Amino acid sequence: MHTASCKCGRVSFEIELDSYNVGICHCSDCQKISGSHFANIYHKDEIKFQGAEFITVYDSSDWAKRAFCGVCGSNLYYKFKQAEGYSLAAGLFDDQRDFTLQTQLFVDKKPAYLNIANVTEDMTEAEIRAKYNF
Ligand SMILES: [Zn+2]
Ligand SMILES: [Zn+2]
Repeated sequence: MHTASCKCGRVSFEIELDSYNVGICHCSDCQKISGSHFANIYHKDEIKFQGAEFITVYDSSDWAKRAFCGVCGSNLYYKFKQAEGYSLAAGLFDDQRDFTLQTQLFVDKKPAYLNIANVTEDMTEAEIRAKYNF
């Protein structure tokens, strides 16, 4: 069981992760919302959040919403409106020892100052739009 919480601890949850694959998104929305890049881990099932009353959900695009703690501002998740699952902020998890970086999205939007040395599957915006048809 993996425990996770926001910085102030008012929002927390416990889940069994199916995969420890971390993805990083460099799109401009993720940069603005995360302050840099959004490192996240996908979880397909519903999550029972403790302190759900502290979660602010933000309608960030026609297709997705994002959530943060209304007290400390911790970025919690990205979620497609029409699909199950959450892209949870990796940094919320207390134990990240088994996490591995697998993918980088919107690599063409990555700031020049950031150079991640891991070997990852990299996709540009055009490649993502072609693959997922949006
Ligand atoms: Zn908080
Ligand atoms: Zn993004």
